Amino acid sequence: MTPAPAEISADRTSVFPRDLDWVYPDIERGEGVRLYRVDGRELLDGCGGGAMVAVLGHARRDVVEAAARQAERLSYVYYHQFTNEPQEELGRRILEVAAPELARVRFVTGGSEANEMALRLARGYHAERGESRWRIISPAHAYHGATFGTLALSGRPSLQAPYEPYLAHHLHIPPSTARLDETGEEALAALDRALEEAGPDTVAAFVCEPVSAAAIPGYSPPIHFWEGVAERREEYGFLVVFDEVVTGFGRTGSWFAYQQLSLQPDIISFGKAAGAGYAPLAGILAAEHVYEAVASGSREFEHGHTWDGAPQLCAVGLAVLEALQSEGLVERVRSRGPSLRDELDAAVGDLDIVREVRGRGFLLGVELVDPRDGESFLPGEVEISTLVDGTALEHGLLITTSHCAADGFVPDQTLFAPAYVASDTELAEMIDRLAATLGDVDSRIKSVLR
Ligand code: PLP
Repeated sequence: MTPAPAEISADRTSVFPRDLDWVYPDIERGEGVRLYRVDGRELLDGCGGGAMVAVLGHARRDVVEAAARQAERLSYVYYHQFTNEPQEELGRRILEVAAPELARVRFVTGGSEANEMALRLARGYHAERGESRWRIISPAHAYHGATFGTLALSGRPSLQAPYEPYLAHHLHIPPSTARLDETGEEALAALDRALEEAGPDTVAAFVCEPVSAAAIPGYSPPIHFWEGVAERREEYGFLVVFDEVVTGFGRTGSWFAYQQLSLQPDIISFGKAAGAGYAPLAGILAAEHVYEAVASGSREFEHGHTWDGAPQLCAVGLAVLEALQSEGLVERVRSRGPSLRDELDAAVGDLDIVREVRGRGFLLGVELVDPRDGESFLPGEVEISTLVDGTALEHGLLITTSHCAADGFVPDQTLFAPAYVASDTELAEMIDRLAATLGDVDSRIKSVLR
């Protein structure tokens, strides 16, 4: 048998790849924060497998054993007819340990599904109370998922344009970044305009990330903005839905990011870290009054998918929660996050292509700009995200760069989101490799843009 190639291009696979021009490294196994290609070459994982998921690192014995134990007992029953012990226990422990401010949980299998469910529940809440609200207002520069329902929540032209005819017409406000709107005042004015345009009694929810993930890593609007949203919720009766698909389960140094804000959400979605890459596990959490609207109304919240709340997935969720709690990993992210950001800043902050190093907990971002003025967005033809991520792979590092400038709100961003279990030595090695990567990219860009 000929050995598998270490990298696979579109013309050498039966798989329909996402990017037909990207040559995909073939990853064979992982161990802790290291990934190994089929040819044995090692990569340091600085982004939870690439999508901020593998918060406990790879190939954790305890989680794998918990999954195996459950599979031997009962892997699957349908949530529609049954409940099961792992689901019951996971729900109980999430509310007890991670989200005591909220009242009910429902599981799904991905972040997009969780956001779809949050949308349905927001509309359902109003319908139960005799109101047919449907519209959503959300900050434009975000990613909430790949389904048509969740794509409509983003206001990013590059994501929406190809599917425009399928998307619901929700309303968007510009992000209140330091670059665009430092105080949050303009975003609140935009929210007021959106409420007026929609008619406030048609607005079901304001949906946003409490702390942004890949789109503006580690960014959160100023307090004034959150206070303004709270006042308007009080006045107009819409719900606040937080997308915590990335920030949920410790990423920013608290169990959920809303716990760092003054604004209490009515519904949140979670995903990624809940299954930590060992099972597709996501869900929503709802406040008591949201649950009560259904409990005292139709008594039905009809929405679901085949694998929702399956024992196999929830057993993994329990093992992940157990590891996060018993190893004090959320506390570690909280206490280590600020120095990690400083170390990253010291390593790359002086490069001309870097405008800002930002972060909360283990969700760090590097804003990339035109080195000729240190401010403007990089021209699209530079293909910065492919260049940075490809150069990182050459340096033995996995990171993810998102192509944000195309949407006109913020420049491109490199995301550094290591596993919570990464040791100080491993974190230092990742930062060294990231600095070497961005140093190379800085030189290459300068020679192209001269
Ligand atoms: N919300 C946010 C903030 C995300 O970053 C993502 C995925 O990256 C999603 C939702 C969608 O999650 P999924 O890809 O699991 O459907």
